[in-house]
Amino acid sequence: MQAKGCLYIVSAPSGAGKSSLIDALLNRFASTMPLKLSISHTTREMRPGETQDKSYHFISNQEFEALIERDAFYEYAKVFDHYYGTSKEIVEQWLNEGFDVLLDIDWQGARIIREKTPDAKGIFILPPSLEELQSRLEKRGRDNAEVIASRMDKAKREISHFDEYDYLIVNDNFDEALLALRSIILANRQKREQQQLIHEDLINSLLQDYVAQDD
Ligand code: 5GP
Repeated sequence: MQAKGCLYIVSAPSGAGKSSLIDALLNRFASTMPLKLSISHTTREMRPGETQDKSYHFISNQEFEALIERDAFYEYAKVFDHYYGTSKEIVEQWLNEGFDVLLDIDWQGARIIREKTPDAKGIFILPPSLEELQSRLEKRGRDNAEVIASRMDKAKREISHFDEYDYLIVNDNFDEALLALRSIILANRQKREQQQLIHEDLINSLLQDYVAQDD
């Protein structure tokens, strides 16, 4: 029997460094870990530096609503006045193929996923302080003071949901936060039930000809 992958929900307030951590995890380790990142659909505008079908599948409201009608989403939510959704088909396919799948989604999507998939693991990334969060948002240089103030309010709202997650990572030192993220996924993979399915042939060969004892 093929071992199914695990679904990871990764949430954080904007500016906590979630995307950089996920990018680094995939760039440095995806070749040694069976790991995929789900690319969401969104109706928001593409930002400078983003790429169609890599950052998101950028689509219109009409297209998004047609996908809702077709029940194409694992979950979807309105975040900052735009739709965001996780494609059901590809995520289910990857999980069935044994890949662990990362969902970079907000707390609303996380709630829906937990209801549908209680085995999913939630990871929440925190900034080291509000000052640092504000400074990271300012350094991006893409928003004016008013937008940053509103992003700070939204960040606090996102942070207020931290206790709905299984794991917390404070992203103060980037490399340590990356190690923590990778360790959570590796430790979960090493669970006996999972390894037993992955290494079924090995275990059978190790125990060949063994006559069970009464112990
Ligand atoms: P941004 O527009 O800054 O890329 O993302 C805004 C927020 O939307 C982030 O918290 C991000 O995690 C969340 N988000 C991205 N994709 C999805 C998705 O498919 N579903 C949900 N529920 N949230 C998403």
